[in-house]
Amino acid sequence: MSKEKIVIKIGTASISSSKGKGIDTSIVKELTDVIANLKKKGHKIVLVTSGAVALGAKELNQDSKPKTILEKQTAASVGQVKLMETYERFFSRHKIIIAQILLTRDGFEQKNIYKNTKETLSSLLNMGVVPIINENDVVASEEIRFGDNDILSAQVSKLIHANRLIILTDEDGLHDSNPKINKNAKLIKVVKKITPKIEKMASGKGSEFSLGGMRSKLQAAKFATSCGIKTHIIFGKRPKNILDILKNNYVGTTFLP
Ligand code: GLU
Repeated sequence: MSKEKIVIKIGTASISSSKGKGIDTSIVKELTDVIANLKKKGHKIVLVTSGAVALGAKELNQDSKPKTILEKQTAASVGQVKLMETYERFFSRHKIIIAQILLTRDGFEQKNIYKNTKETLSSLLNMGVVPIINENDVVASEEIRFGDNDILSAQVSKLIHANRLIILTDEDGLHDSNPKINKNAKLIKVVKKITPKIEKMASGKGSEFSLGGMRSKLQAAKFATSCGIKTHIIFGKRPKNILDILKNNYVGTTFLP
């Protein structure tokens, strides 16, 4: 098996527990076990994670999703600590060192920031560290926001020349219609080209705290595959499926580069 550079993106819905909006540590445990397993096989992994806003809102005892940008920024700054503390706890069981990287969209547009980010990521990966990336929500105003981590994860995949992008979400993959509304919606296993017909299939948002929804995942897949990166959308509550993907047993939806 060839050694790959893999970007794994996990969304808020996958990482939050269904009861209350705290972090689902069983998912963090399974995900960190999977990443440890992949690292042992020689793969290099970058994790892009959401969850800061939802965790922060919970810490601040807010019941519903923060609405204004300021509320989101405040919640994110509190929640980011919780998020990293949890990852650190579970990765340290595998003696894996992690790094926190917070990015904004303008960083991808400014040559010197782009170069610095690229070099730092490459240095971390060469040292066996798992970089954990989120949007820097605190400084990202509406105009300069990625808005959701799906697009961010695709940009990061391009930046590090990843072989694969794996997006974990609250659906089994892309369906021919919205499975939240239509019970007979069929899973699309392989997408060779993202045509307008395919784009029409993706609609709607995920959970209350999620931002992206299937549409932005498709946009991310479109961007990544256009850069030659194989992209997968899989069910986030079963991170072990990532191991099957690497064995070429396709689960979820695979988008060919
Ligand atoms: N950066 C946000 C957070 O950590 C989430 C963005 C997203 O859901 O894609 O909560």
